[in-house]
Amino acid sequence: MPELPEVETTLRGIESLILNKTISSIIVRQASLRWPVPTQLLKDKLINKNFSGIKRRGKYLILQSSEEFLIIHLGMSGSLRIAQKENLKKHDHIDIIFEDESILRYCDPRRFGCFLWTDNPNSHFLLKNLGPEPLGNSFNGKYLFDLSRKRRTPIKNFIMNSKIVVGVGNIYASEALFKAKIRPTRQAGKVSLQSYETLSEEIVSILGQSIDQGGTTLRDFVGSDNKPGYFKQQLEVYGRQGKECKICDSTLKNKIIGQRSSVFCPKCQK
Ligand SMILES: [Zn+2]
Repeated sequence: MPELPEVETTLRGIESLILNKTISSIIVRQASLRWPVPTQLLKDKLINKNFSGIKRRGKYLILQSSEEFLIIHLGMSGSLRIAQKENLKKHDHIDIIFEDESILRYCDPRRFGCFLWTDNPNSHFLLKNLGPEPLGNSFNGKYLFDLSRKRRTPIKNFIMNSKIVVGVGNIYASEALFKAKIRPTRQAGKVSLQSYETLSEEIVSILGQSIDQGGTTLRDFVGSDNKPGYFKQQLEVYGRQGKECKICDSTLKNKIIGQRSSVFCPKCQK
């Protein structure tokens, strides 16, 4: 799934190529995404207008036009790229075409993403309950520690809960817990402040590194520059169950937590 670093990379890749350009047309080939695409509304709102800003909130992209906003989510395997008219691929569901004929093209093979319009993203049902950004100022060990008291949920679920903090997907949660030497099954309420401080630093570090690498871990992600974006980063535990721990040589174990596989080292992670 496109994770926070892929969404941030997408934002940085398309930002300068789409802002302040007049939109000449919109083509919706498939309106049946996770929620129906409001095709006519998008045309009414955007044609002959432009995007004046773009930002990311969790894994959502929010594009501003006049005083209103387009919310885009890339779903399980979607991408958003600058494309040429002729290079249409299967699952390229939406084109936003600019006056200079460049195209912002949305591809979403599994159609779990969204393209929605709102006049207030802060009160939108998809965004209003989101926790802080992991790379923002209000995210730190103390924040996690305070919120986790008396919670019996496994720490991995706790940090993957977008109401607690946004954008910590399975890969990043697994890797950060390994680096912080915390077993993913530990009850969130029983983890110390010091461990939460280490964990929050590891989360920030791994997300930052991944963004720096143009980050993606997904095979079919297409970078906004139209190059295949497969910069798989060095992973210590994710996807390595049954293999040796790179630190202690123990065999890495896998446990299903909240329906997600969670690989950990039984010796390094307590
Ligand atoms: Zn180990």
